[in-house]
Amino acid sequence: MAVVTRIPSLSASCSVSSSTSKTQSRKSNYFSLTQVFSVRCSLHSQATSPFTEKHSVERYERDSWLYKYQFQNLSTSSCPVPPDQESIREYEIALQLPELRKLLEVLREKRESENRDKRRGPGNVFLVGTGPGDPELLTVKALRVIQSADLLLYDRLVSDDVLNLVGPNARLLYVGKTAGYHSRTQEEIHELLLSFAEAGANVVRLKGGDPLVFGRGGEEMDFLQQQGIGVKVIPGITAASGIAAELGIPLTHRGVANSVRFLTGHSKNGGTDPLFVVENAADPDSTLVVYMGLSTLPSLASKLMHRGLPQDTPAVAVERGTTPQQRMVLAELKDLAYEITLNQLVSPTLIIIGKVVALSPLWPHVKKETSSLMEAN
Ligand code: SAH
Repeated sequence: MAVVTRIPSLSASCSVSSSTSKTQSRKSNYFSLTQVFSVRCSLHSQATSPFTEKHSVERYERDSWLYKYQFQNLSTSSCPVPPDQESIREYEIALQLPELRKLLEVLREKRESENRDKRRGPGNVFLVGTGPGDPELLTVKALRVIQSADLLLYDRLVSDDVLNLVGPNARLLYVGKTAGYHSRTQEEIHELLLSFAEAGANVVRLKGGDPLVFGRGGEEMDFLQQQGIGVKVIPGITAASGIAAELGIPLTHRGVANSVRFLTGHSKNGGTDPLFVVENAADPDSTLVVYMGLSTLPSLASKLMHRGLPQDTPAVAVERGTTPQQRMVLAELKDLAYEITLNQLVSPTLIIIGKVVALSPLWPHVKKETSSLMEAN
């Protein structure tokens, strides 16, 4: 089974090695079933994660305005770590509070002095989609808003490369909700957005991919609108589109897939059984894209096969798609969960299941019927 690690936009400065010599040359990124490609690059981007990590010093540096006095201690290896996750969270938030309050006061004063001359409403909140990681996949609009923001709230799926585009005077605040340092609850995020918008700030809520695709953007929009705050949504390229383009997979294709369905691997209460898979999801003429599906894939795959999706349906799982750290496994549906475990893919990983996967030049099984499908269309 093929596992690929590659650096799409840096190829000129990279070296490519392969564990077998049977590289097929029809396309430069074409390989056989058993090959393992690895691409190494000397640039610093290889060393850092494209996504903000739980215990990252880079994150503390980026959010350092919040730790004016504490940062010296936090950025060293002797970082004081409270005993459990809940205490870590409370401790981190307590550290952030004084600077957040100060910033709010400054913004309020600025707004009051501006209001003496002309009447001004609250600031704006922009819900901005940042795409799957490659900063070149940002929209022009998103870039403009990011560069003129006062405060940006971001989470784990926003890549470092995107954060590097933020204007020099903007303040960044990490609000990732996954377990880890100073994560915030959804309610706290709502309150932060509201307080800063009321103080007149231009607040940007950065979201990986598209804010309205499994991004809880709808909830934030709802809450703020109920409080009388104007919200503008700037769409982003959702992981499915970014990754499909990267791999050369048409999500729909005449005669192969006449619909595409985005699924979440997790139900609202975080349950582990994807009971949501209704009978018609096992449709061989449809493409399934599964977000947040790593842990539930074994159960999802067997359910789909049980309901009639052929075991040899082509599938791919892509970790950190569109970033220099992208890795993927391609396999038939029956083997996908095993290959994911074998290759230790971690979150964020996107799974695409359907005949269209075999249309990718990366698909190793170039079977007769696949070729004829491609020719027929
Ligand atoms: N709003 C996002 C989705 C958020 S849900 C969007 O539109 O893309 C989080 C899930 O998205 C992850 O668990 C993963 O399944 C998927 N995802 C987001 N970015 C990804 C990336 N760069 N590579 C692989 N999967 C990604």
